[in-house]
Amino acid sequence: MILTQCAVCATDLGLSLGKKCGRCSTRYCGPECQVQHWKEGGHDNICKKIKKAGGAEQYHANKKYTEAVAVAAEACAEDTKGQTCFICTQALHWKTKEGLVRGCACRGTAGFAHVSCLAEQAKLLFAEAEENNLDANVISERFKRWSSCSLCEQQYHGVVYCALGWACWKTYVGRPEADQIRSMAMGVLGNGLSDAGHHEDALSVKEAEFTMMRRFSGSARNILLVQGNLANTYAELGHSEKAIRMRQEVYSGCLRLEGEDDEGTLCAAYNYAVSLVTLERLEEAKALINRSLPVARRVLGDSHNLTLEMRWKYAEALCRDDSATLDDLREAVSTLEDAGRIARRVMGGAHPTTRTIETALQHARGVLRARSA
Ligand SMILES: [Zn+2]
Ligand SMILES: [Zn+2]
Ligand SMILES: [Zn+2]
Ligand SMILES: [Zn+2]
Repeated sequence: MILTQCAVCATDLGLSLGKKCGRCSTRYCGPECQVQHWKEGGHDNICKKIKKAGGAEQYHANKKYTEAVAVAAEACAEDTKGQTCFICTQALHWKTKEGLVRGCACRGTAGFAHVSCLAEQAKLLFAEAEENNLDANVISERFKRWSSCSLCEQQYHGVVYCALGWACWKTYVGRPEADQIRSMAMGVLGNGLSDAGHHEDALSVKEAEFTMMRRFSGSARNILLVQGNLANTYAELGHSEKAIRMRQEVYSGCLRLEGEDDEGTLCAAYNYAVSLVTLERLEEAKALINRSLPVARRVLGDSHNLTLEMRWKYAEALCRDDSATLDDLREAVSTLEDAGRIARRVMGGAHPTTRTIETALQHARGVLRARSA
């Protein structure tokens, strides 16, 4: 569950403390808050409505979804002006009247859509796989439609990812707690929240997901992936020591379990390297990337986001090092020039990875100029 606080005083209730409204499952720390909420907080007016919507979690998910769609459409308004949805072919959604979004790597006139249409498409595609009892790999492949574009195959980003996260969560929140799909939906929501910069919210979702995963004995691999995700949020919130401990654990766990060619292992290696750079452990960071980058290039290819990010981090480690030679700095610049070109070609100039690399390139050139002078 996502609602882990008392609805009145915000006391943290974890996954099971406190009490619930008998009708709608809204959570409270105790009877005092519950009574107050009923008498003065207006709960008497909406309790039935919440119950009718499917209970507190579902109601909350629906509400957050509507808000997130409005935020995403607003943020994309400039970019989507004069366009139509590639799914329903309309500019305004016939039912919800929501505007268009685009938050992937599609360019030109491709990839404009309504969040509702993207969500409906993902839901149907996944339902079909489930109904027909397709292979577990196919099922998890189809589930990716919630987080990546069907046209360009790139992951959504920012507010669009966040809106799809709420869409996904609101679609599967009603499933039993032990249902793996429910955990996966929580995962999409957690990542969407992170991508839109809502790290505090992401933290509570990811902590809940991690707890659920362990309680309902998820596979060792999935637990590691979720733990890695949680570590990313700790890192974003500035809990660097906690993040690096978890990331090291996740990396060595993945390496043991899946070997170095696995995408999950490569991702864990990258995240661990990020933490090493943050904590100025630059030699270790460089050694780790030197070990992982050739594998990423071979397994994922030169234009994969992760390969590009690894190269960017390597260049950053070079630039941050006070003892870097001029050759090191030249290497950093040429690495970023090349990675930037690839990112621009594959993902477009507006993509966050492209922007990050291009900003890093400006910085690296500056460091090189200053040092050469
Ligand atoms: Zn309370
Ligand atoms: Zn109630
Ligand atoms: Zn549409
Ligand atoms: Zn796309």
